[in-house]
Amino acid sequence: MDASTSQGVLAPTVKLLIGGKLVESKTTQWHEVINPATQQVLARVPESTPEEIAAAVASAKEAFKTWRKTSLMARGRIFLKYQELIRAHMKELAAILTAEQGKTLPDAEGDVFRGLEIVEHAASIGTLQLGEVGNNIATGVDTFTMLQPLGVCAGITPFNFPAMIPLWMFPMAIACGNTFVLKPSQQDPMVTMRLCELAIEAGVPAGVLNVVHGTADAVNAICDHPDIKAISFVGSTKVGTHVYHRASLAGKRVQCMMGAKNHAIVMPDANKEQALNALIGASFGAAGQRCMAISVMVLVGDAQKWIPDIVAKAKDLKVNVGTADGTDLGPLITCAARDRVEGLIEQGVKEGAKLELDGRNPTVKGYEKGNFVGPTIFSGVKPGMTIYDQEVFGPVLCIVQADNLDEAIEFINANPNGNGTAIFTRSGAAARQFKEDVDVGQVGVNLPVPVPVSLFSFTGSRGSKLGDLGPYGKQVVLFYTQTKTVTERWFDEAEHHAMNTTISLK
Ligand code: NAD
Repeated sequence: MDASTSQGVLAPTVKLLIGGKLVESKTTQWHEVINPATQQVLARVPESTPEEIAAAVASAKEAFKTWRKTSLMARGRIFLKYQELIRAHMKELAAILTAEQGKTLPDAEGDVFRGLEIVEHAASIGTLQLGEVGNNIATGVDTFTMLQPLGVCAGITPFNFPAMIPLWMFPMAIACGNTFVLKPSQQDPMVTMRLCELAIEAGVPAGVLNVVHGTADAVNAICDHPDIKAISFVGSTKVGTHVYHRASLAGKRVQCMMGAKNHAIVMPDANKEQALNALIGASFGAAGQRCMAISVMVLVGDAQKWIPDIVAKAKDLKVNVGTADGTDLGPLITCAARDRVEGLIEQGVKEGAKLELDGRNPTVKGYEKGNFVGPTIFSGVKPGMTIYDQEVFGPVLCIVQADNLDEAIEFINANPNGNGTAIFTRSGAAARQFKEDVDVGQVGVNLPVPVPVSLFSFTGSRGSKLGDLGPYGKQVVLFYTQTKTVTERWFDEAEHHAMNTTISLK
């Protein structure tokens, strides 16, 4: 169905997925999906009604009865087919993603690709969901564990990786034998929906994967629903903390991956060219809208002289629409996000940080209405300044200085967030001290964005994560399953007879 938008034009509606069918919502409340480079309304996405959310959960609960008994091999095989379909549709998926989210086409392919790796891993579930056996833990007695699926699981995802993050969640949950209700970001749900359609095409049975849409009300309904056993959340610290508390109170297992302020230490012995090139990409790529973006550079000792080189490299980056060849930074997700980032830059100036490079109001020919902010750099930044204390989630790099490595590590550990960090150095001893002492989940050595591949699990320390187990990898198999231990003893005929005789003589 097409429906009229705030711009008075027709736009398609984003459907719900319930019981294996794409369903038109009966809601009266709609959000618009807007191309951030042009402001064109691409689609309208519903705020699902309570009845629709209940129907999605009921369909997942019903499907669980048979899905939990489906063989490991049959479950894994669906993901072999699914990965093939994602590869075949890579260009189409990237184009949808760039239109609704803004990042460049190569970056959009990267977003899909990192999710694809999780799908490939889900295909190996046959060797991942294995229990342990203790043979003869007493004479003639064995104990073994079974990792059994939980039931209906749910996922709530952010706007910045609309392909990768949903793929962090439902493939592994479903491969483990659970059924799933996904609530994508209302800001860019279209690529997520396309990925869900491909999952159905790959053979995920009706009701095993369901999708609802919406914002706070939909999320709260998921947190409260008694038939949902576990929730995976990725998004801001404020919303994630709320989800963690509300869903935990309702008795659910919850994992929340949240906000960040990622610091990179640059030691004076680092390979300057290599370090600065890597860090510029990590700070400004995807317009800084990555939870693993480097937003603070800690220059140690003589590395402090490199500020002019950092500024020169950042100046060279091309701000443009994500579909244009050679673009380094696309637009921010919404006009509100652009206004917020510009406001924070203004505040940084007022609070005394030195604005080395001002990216506000860049000219992007042909895309004058886009939400663009160019690379922005502050030096002399200190804790207490809003530009440092808040997660900017835009192309703004704060430079701070430290006299030595101890001071730099202490500085990082004093920040409330612990998502990602990196060190650039030629010293093995410095790198080792950093790895040992820094209290951050993802640590890179001469690598700026150390996101673990699918064989490991994403993690986070302190304010960046709530819940013990991370998404994907080995940890998520434990998150999406309940461990049961079975202790058993079997008697042979002679032992049976002897026992029966003993009992009858008594
Ligand atoms: P967000 O918290 O605004 O939204 C995340 C999800 O919560 C969305 O599905 C949204 O619809 C829902 N939501 C929004 N407001 C809500 C409310 N009041 N109550 C209940 N639900 C609500 O996050 P975002 O802006 O989409 O994404 C950016 C944030 O996500 C950044 O903070 C970034 O660091 C973080 N992030 C973290 C990781 C990680 O792995 N640690 C990865 C990606 C993004």
